Amino acid sequence: MTDLDGVWCFLSGSNAPPSHGPPYPTMYHPPQRGPSPTKRSLQRSVTEKSLCHEPSAQSQKAKEAKLAVGVRMILESLGEDVEREGLLQTPERYARAMLFFTKGYSDNIGEKINDAVFDVAHNDIVIVRDIDLFSMCEHHLVPFMGKIHIGYLPNGRVLGLSKLARIAEVFARRLQIQERLTQEVARAIDDILHPQGVIVIAEATHMCMVMRGIQKTGAVTTTVHSTGVFMTDQRMEDRFHTLLNPRRFS
Ligand SMILES: [Zn+2]
Repeated sequence: MTDLDGVWCFLSGSNAPPSHGPPYPTMYHPPQRGPSPTKRSLQRSVTEKSLCHEPSAQSQKAKEAKLAVGVRMILESLGEDVEREGLLQTPERYARAMLFFTKGYSDNIGEKINDAVFDVAHNDIVIVRDIDLFSMCEHHLVPFMGKIHIGYLPNGRVLGLSKLARIAEVFARRLQIQERLTQEVARAIDDILHPQGVIVIAEATHMCMVMRGIQKTGAVTTTVHSTGVFMTDQRMEDRFHTLLNPRRFS
């Protein structure tokens, strides 16, 4: 049995906590190691039913409609004529776009990683770099974008490489701050693989800085979160940076 027998899910829709932010904590229900398979499957089905339901097409439509009402109010607040041709479909169009930008709320990490955890006696760093990052700043509701680099030192198990990018995508496609996004990606990999350590670096340009505020078009924000050996062993952290990009980090 692997830890994939546990159930990852994210609160969404009517189960979501109050509106102060994304659905935290991320719900990971560890595998039930004691009970019989029958009891386990019962527990899982109850958990999945209560917490992990996929949003129905109807609830998606309801969200679209509610968002569109809000967008219409924004347009009116700007003094716009919401009936003019160019804006007629804008509220609905924006609603659909926003739901796509934040689709990570309804994503299930368990489904994303599927059966892609493998027992492999690989004992050196695994790195996937330059994963595209598109997220939305929760303070201004405008995008920030850049790259995420992920490294981990396995502990007898590895994750299919493309799954690392999928995990990053789940957390990026929510309203975020870059610091928390970086932590969440690292913690998720920690929870799934229990590796010897994880290090995640995010580099992003924030539209709220570029288009307003200090208006620094070239400013890139870098955030790092590390666990395990990448916190305790400087040589391991140095090795990661060297492998990641010797020209930039050495
Ligand atoms: Zn912002």
